[in-house]
Amino acid sequence: MAKLPARKLLDRYRVTDGKTFRLADHDPADVAPKLVNPADSAALLAQGVARLSALQELLYAQRSWSLLAVFQAMDAAGKDGTIKHVMSGVNPQGVRVKAFKAPGEEELAHDFLWRVMRELPERGQVGIFNRSHYEEVLVVRVHPEMLDRERLPGALRGRKMWQHRLEDIAHFETYLARQGLVVLKFFLHVSREEQRRRLLDRLDQPDKTWKFSAGDVIERQHWDEYMQAYEAAIRATASDDAPWFVVPADHKWFTRLVVVAAMVDALEKLDLKVPSVPEQTRLGLAAARAELIKEG
Ligand code: ATP
Ligand code: MG
Repeated sequence: MAKLPARKLLDRYRVTDGKTFRLADHDPADVAPKLVNPADSAALLAQGVARLSALQELLYAQRSWSLLAVFQAMDAAGKDGTIKHVMSGVNPQGVRVKAFKAPGEEELAHDFLWRVMRELPERGQVGIFNRSHYEEVLVVRVHPEMLDRERLPGALRGRKMWQHRLEDIAHFETYLARQGLVVLKFFLHVSREEQRRRLLDRLDQPDKTWKFSAGDVIERQHWDEYMQAYEAAIRATASDDAPWFVVPADHKWFTRLVVVAAMVDALEKLDLKVPSVPEQTRLGLAAARAELIKEG
């Protein structure tokens, strides 16, 4: 049976030091032809999903570490489908998906990390962020007029504001890592042309049209500004504590393989074990067993 060369694959897309990172070095259509045979993709995904499920059981049993997977992308890059496929084997009790939309009144009345803090996974849980705090240095950076709604004091809206936000995010994620949250950030990197095809597809196929939003066509006019904002965000916040994965997203089957491989790899590094039962409890268990046998 084919096996995914996870380490080699992930080394290709993982960014832990942003200093030399350039988005232009990453091809959205890459499928690592020397590492993965597309004919094996379904089997490899199934393997990854099964392994992730087993690791999540251990994570849950141990209730010490937790996993936070952040998904960022342009529209139609495949966030929803990736989350659906990669998490398809995992016990729903151990996972929570949060989709962050444009902030409402209550959220705007607080600092930007407030709503994120409230959604962090508890120990033993997997948290999936479909969009995240990064929107504050992406969509808000591309549309700075959004800052008016945030009611940030004018004195704090200076030249360095974006750099400060990025620093704050990096520090926040280091804090999370030091608290036992394994933070993985996925940028599903779709090309502008592939996005155009997918948006057209939504219009052409009646069962997909509900997904179409006219706003997506407007946002894509700011493509280059978005790419600059993504590049700046990845440069400033990629670290060992919270790596970015720049995942090629023009081919959905490949995106899913890279994401599942990254989650499996991160959990495998934790050396998760089923918690051992203390001696005292074990004695109680013997009594319970005897009782159950007697009842039979
Ligand atoms: P899909 O389109 O696949 O359903 P989506 O994630 O694009 O998924 P939408 O409801 O279309 O979901 O969009 C959410 C919108 O909310 C995005 O345009 C995003 O930029 C915006 N958003 C999220 N967080 C913020 C934020 N902090 N400030 C401003 N806008 C935000
Ligand atoms: Mg959308």
